[in-house]
Amino acid sequence: MVDGFYVIDSHCHIYPEKIASRAVAGTDNFYGTVSFGNGITDQLRELKEISGTDLYIVQSVATTAKQVGSINEFIANEVDKGDGLFVGLGTLYPDSDNIKEDVRHLISLGLKGVKLHPDIQNFKIDDYRCLKIYELCEQEGLPILMHTGDNRYDNSNPNRLVPVLNIFTGLTVIGAHLGGYSIWNEASEKLAGLDNLYVDCSSSFPFIDKQTALDIIRKYGADKVLYGTDYPMWSPMEEIKTFMSLGLTDDEKRKILSENAKKLFLK
Ligand SMILES: [Zn+2]
Repeated sequence: MVDGFYVIDSHCHIYPEKIASRAVAGTDNFYGTVSFGNGITDQLRELKEISGTDLYIVQSVATTAKQVGSINEFIANEVDKGDGLFVGLGTLYPDSDNIKEDVRHLISLGLKGVKLHPDIQNFKIDDYRCLKIYELCEQEGLPILMHTGDNRYDNSNPNRLVPVLNIFTGLTVIGAHLGGYSIWNEASEKLAGLDNLYVDCSSSFPFIDKQTALDIIRKYGADKVLYGTDYPMWSPMEEIKTFMSLGLTDDEKRKILSENAKKLFLK
């Protein structure tokens, strides 16, 4: 809890201990960052009290079709060991031979949604290979936390996302990084107001000033924004401090810090 608010961190990456340092280094290399954490659930446990986080939504992204099953089992296992501290999202991969079976497996493991990362997994959001994923997630009521935005690539920007949201109107997508990492203003202009789109505020505060963050959050509306840190990239203590100081009302904070995430992931 922070100032009486229940806090759900809706965007946390975790890795098996023996590959964590390599995985974190790979992400840092891709984004030019120096990550705060080590990406291991033990650290999230340690940070719970210090950062005031009550619940972590954890996920990990497969970079080949072969990894999908074992990564989903890893996430589910961490959730089981977490005594209620973690809720898990699964991974899928567009090139898998049997996406339907992957989805069935992921649901049977108790995972509550799917994380996709077009830049890391090498696909464009509107790639035909992804249509099966969207169709099944829509049918099964699985929300997709989608990495969105990168001004270096044309995989996950609004031009790719909007058509998918318009076709799969029953699919819920959470566009990470306020809908567009590195293209924050442009993304909010193109994406705000789409019924089936939520956004999270992860990996944004270190790059935009507080007024811009507040304006963008209000443009989407407090009903459509989730709090997230992109752990292990940023310090959960710094992220919550910045969030609490943006000038949001208590009602807006309550929705963003927990109510929206509960609605999407804790059904
Ligand atoms: Zn992410």
